[in-house]
Amino acid sequence: MEFHERVLLENRAWVEEMSRRDPEVFTRLNRGQAPEALWIGCSDSRVPAEQICNAGPGELFIHRNVANVVRSDEAGFMAVLQYAVAALQVKHIVVCGHHGCGGVKAAMADAASGLEHVDSHLAGVRDTCRSGQDELAAITDERQRVDRLVELNVIAQVRALGEMFVVREAACPPQLHGMVYALESGLLREIVRWERGAGAPLFPEAAEQPSAVATA
Ligand SMILES: [Zn+2]
Repeated sequence: MEFHERVLLENRAWVEEMSRRDPEVFTRLNRGQAPEALWIGCSDSRVPAEQICNAGPGELFIHRNVANVVRSDEAGFMAVLQYAVAALQVKHIVVCGHHGCGGVKAAMADAASGLEHVDSHLAGVRDTCRSGQDELAAITDERQRVDRLVELNVIAQVRALGEMFVVREAACPPQLHGMVYALESGLLREIVRWERGAGAPLFPEAAEQPSAVATA
């Protein structure tokens, strides 16, 4: 069976399953949306936002790009952010990176990838790599080095979000969360949390923290 045929067939099966579990689901979703959170994640096919949070349709407003990058000069991203904050008034924004991120690996490489749009998109991650180079160079295991840059990138993106006018001056400023998803276990961890008026970002892992923090 061709891919597009399988997609249409699986869609019918999904509609049947959803309607069997909750006969009103599509009527309800058709009335509008009021998601609690904006999710900014990586486009990587192994990190599907709704599934890893056990969330259903209507629960997350989602933007995904390579290496979960936040950029004020990208109209597509800014439209998602502004709509989520100003119109939907989401209470939380999650930036979620993941172990083994190909975008982060590419930003860490000495040479450019040769894919000009990818390289241009990842310029900020390269900057984060440069500013963390002493710490990163001390990590001998390459996978661990990449995963540490994944964390530094998430923290940098949360900081950048917190400084954006759209977030800073929102009528109801959302709480910002930086999370990392472990491909090897399927577990999410919250590594940084920030809200307006709270001063410095909070690093939950530095305080008492369960091994995994699930999103609500
Ligand atoms: Zn990725």
